[in-house]
Formats: sequence, C-alpha cells, structure tokens
Amino acid sequence: MPVNEPLFILMVIFILSVTFLMARGIYRLSYISKAEARRVHSFYSSHSTYYNKLNKKLQQRFVQRAFSLTQNLKIVGRGTRVNHSVKYMVVAALVQVTFGLNSYFLKSFRTIFVYPSSYRHPHTGNMHDGEVHPDGLICLSIPQLVKGFNNPTDVLNLGLHEMAHAFMHSILSKKNSNTLVGALNEVLAISEVEVGKIKEGQPHIFRSYAGESVSEFFAVAIEHFFENPQGLQSSLPLLYTKLTVLLNQDPARNVFYLRKVK
Ligand SMILES: [Zn+2]
Repeated sequence: MPVNEPLFILMVIFILSVTFLMARGIYRLSYISKAEARRVHSFYSSHSTYYNKLNKKLQQRFVQRAFSLTQNLKIVGRGTRVNHSVKYMVVAALVQVTFGLNSYFLKSFRTIFVYPSSYRHPHTGNMHDGEVHPDGLICLSIPQLVKGFNNPTDVLNLGLHEMAHAFMHSILSKKNSNTLVGALNEVLAISEVEVGKIKEGQPHIFRSYAGESVSEFFAVAIEHFFENPQGLQSSLPLLYTKLTVLLNQDPARNVFYLRKVK
C-alpha cells in the first residue's frame, strides 16, 4: 500500500507535539528568556550560598526550576508586595530541598502566603514566622526567610524548615514513588529514636525544638543537612546517609545531584 506522504508527516508532527506537551506537563517546564535567566542567576549568585556551590550546568537547572515554580505557584502577599526578589527567595528553598529529584513540585502545595513580619495565627492567637497547612498552604514571614539565607551556617533556615515539612507531607500523603516513601520511612525511624533522646534531655546536636515531634525533627534535620552537613555526618552518620539517599544529594562532599533518579 503506498504511503500517503503528507499524511505521514502530519502524523509525525502530531505525535512529536503531543510528546512535547506531555513532557512539559509532567516536568512543568516553563520557557525562560535569556534575559530573565541572567537576572535570576544574578539574584541567586548574590543571595544563595547553595547556588554558588553548584557547577554551571546545575545552576542552569536551579534557575529553570525556580522560574517554573514562580510561574506555577500562587505566591500571595499578605500586607506586602510580591516583587521579583520575594518570589525567587520564596521558591529557593523548595528548589534546594528537591534538587536531586526529578519532581520538584509538591502537588498538594500550590499556594504560598508571604508576610512582611511575624504574623498572628487567626486560631491560636500566637505569633508565627512560618507554617505549613496540610490542606495545601505554606506561610512565610519574609524577614525570617531572608535571615535564614543570609546566615547559611547557623542551622536556622525558615525556608528550608517549612519546605521540609511540606516535602515530608507530600511524600506521605500522595501516591509518591515507593522509593521516596521507603527512604523517608528510614529517616523517620531514626528520627523517632533521636526525638526520644532529646525528650530525655540528652545532649544533642539539634536544638531542643527538634524534640517536639518526628515532623519537627525532620525539618530541623534538613536545616542541618544543608547548613552543617559535615557536623551532621559526624554526629549522626546513619541519619546523614539516609538523607543523602532520600534527597539524592551529598552536601558534605559538595555533590548536589548524586545519580540519575526516576
Ligand atoms: Zn516546624
């Protein structure tokens, strides 16, 4: 049977277009102009120690991911203006925590409220700098977020802390890959033992707040993982190793993308 050439070409174009759109949908890649990429690069070069440790190729990956997040997340100012810097500061921690993984969108967390200072929680009346609601909202106070990035070694980083909560919640609540669930459960099993030690008042590398719950321990562990990786590795080597498996990064060796992952 003779091949209808124009029809064949049309079919190929159609299949290629569908494949491209599907890949775009899966990875949520947004097109970034060269000018914007330069602007974002310049911003992170002067604000993120983590970014400055990446090689050129990984910096491009960081910029692309940050840009895609700013395009797809709803970042809402609560009494403050959300400018370019605020947007990129807000997504930086999320890009950092998920950098070794293919999936950097936390499906259930699509909205981020940003505040010009600490804010009063409407239900408890307490002052907060940040929180993660399991129904899909992340709240952050901008000054505390900036403070976290300005001192990259004091193991206090609001952005990393809150994104760690959201990341953990996403893995446990969604049908994530079994690999991630398995790796997280191994981290949480160690966390449970360590929480017990902190509660007993034993001296610990983590601040006492980490003893509040396994979830808080995990968030503090992520702060240590990025801001004091060598210290964490020497104090809690098994926890450190399990975190490298979960996040596919090894910051103690300045490796931020260990191996290709599914
Ligand atoms: Zn917390």
